[in-house]
Amino acid sequence: MEALHQKIREQGIVLSDQVLKASTFRTWSESTKPCSRIFWCNASMKLIGDEFAARFTDSGITKIVTIEASGIAPAIMTGLNLGVPVIFARKQQSLTLTENLLSATVYSFTKKTESTVAISPRHLTSSDRVLIIDDFLANGKASQALISIIKQAGATVAGLGIVIEKSFQGGRAELDSQGYRVESLARVKSLTGGVVTFIE
Ligand code: 5GP
Repeated sequence: MEALHQKIREQGIVLSDQVLKASTFRTWSESTKPCSRIFWCNASMKLIGDEFAARFTDSGITKIVTIEASGIAPAIMTGLNLGVPVIFARKQQSLTLTENLLSATVYSFTKKTESTVAISPRHLTSSDRVLIIDDFLANGKASQALISIIKQAGATVAGLGIVIEKSFQGGRAELDSQGYRVESLARVKSLTGGVVTFIE
């Protein structure tokens, strides 16, 4: 997606050789109002949802799973487009989640902390074909936790849709070696020296 590459080049902030800040992006609409977070911009999200839906339209997707919080917006737009429910894994146990949960531990790349993510077993069945959507793919810990949860439900992981993949970290290679289909809208080759370069 050239438009996404351009947006990242112009407005992304390289915090280090490993981390890209994507929260100051504006919308792709004609609006001149700043959008506080890229993933909360309606116009950007519509394009992202359209693109994921086009790529997975023939994959028999029955549900979308994401992880709170930044995965929710692209997941919702994709779900609306594909006409399937969207489920998000919670990072903290909610008072309303009282039954036995499907859960996995995940080490947060940005927060450097470990947490448990969980989904109610009522939301997934063994006949589901699930598309995982997330905003970033780094070392793949979030994706692997969601894969574990989906497998615990006996459902099938039909693929992963990632908005920004940092290809120089290990997540993509591991998912490839496990045989999963990964569709990333932007594949960042390097952030070295504060410059964003892409795998075209
Ligand atoms: P992973 O689990 O693949 O190591 O990291 C993915 C998760 O960490 C994503 O859900 C995302 O929220 C966060 N993340 C990883 N790298 C970045 C980054 O460079 N920038 C931002 N904003 N979030 C990131």
